[in-house]
Amino acid sequence: MPVLDQLVSAIRSAAIEVVDLTARLDATTPVIQLPEPFANTVSFSLREVSHYDARGPAWYWNDITTGEHTGTHFDAPVHWITGRDGADVSAVPVTSLIAPAVMLDFSEQAAADPDFLLEPAHVRQWEHEHGPLPDGGWLLYRTGWDARSGSQRAFLNADETGPHTPGVSVACARWLADEAPVIGLGVETVGTDAGAAHSFDPPFPCHAALLGAGKYGLTQLQNLAALPPTGAVVIAGPLPIAGGSGSPARVLALVER
Ligand code: MN
Repeated sequence: MPVLDQLVSAIRSAAIEVVDLTARLDATTPVIQLPEPFANTVSFSLREVSHYDARGPAWYWNDITTGEHTGTHFDAPVHWITGRDGADVSAVPVTSLIAPAVMLDFSEQAAADPDFLLEPAHVRQWEHEHGPLPDGGWLLYRTGWDARSGSQRAFLNADETGPHTPGVSVACARWLADEAPVIGLGVETVGTDAGAAHSFDPPFPCHAALLGAGKYGLTQLQNLAALPPTGAVVIAGPLPIAGGSGSPARVLALVER
């Protein structure tokens, strides 16, 4: 049987499960909040154009307002100054949008310490147990943070010292960017960097190192708990916004059951 027929048949028979890694988009979808003097993005919103009424008797449609980095979304290299000469979101090769993925679960550590940071030693230990990170694939970093996504306050987890959400150390960000074979990092938090990463040296190391290396970010993912440590395939669908720095994305994972 042709391989695409096999794929469709496996999805229909549930031999391959399709796991939706995407958060629903609405006005309450958490968005990052930068402190003064920095500019902030808008929340998602709908504005009704017509709803089977005088404005359009047989049709319903809306205009949407959204930031590029709202909800489950894709970070393109040009999002960061280190990647300013890299690909905008419309230029990301489509072959990168279907890629293998591994899932590293540090939800217990993040529950115990919201400022938990992934270190190179954590990834090396994981590789010792599960094999190498996928060449040309995603590292999906589970922290359990998707359980907080219904509340902006719980999701950003900020106090007077700033946000406290798990992330990646400076050393690990550099290692993922420069040595690991992955094309990008996927996270459950509002961005790929830790909440406290504004205070790191250098600040925001995931953004700086990975996007500077031409790699990608996927953020505000859901349902990573449904993925096996290895063997999933991720399909990420950012809109090809011309010149865009990122885009809300539907992100699906194929998992063989
Ligand atoms: Mn982003």
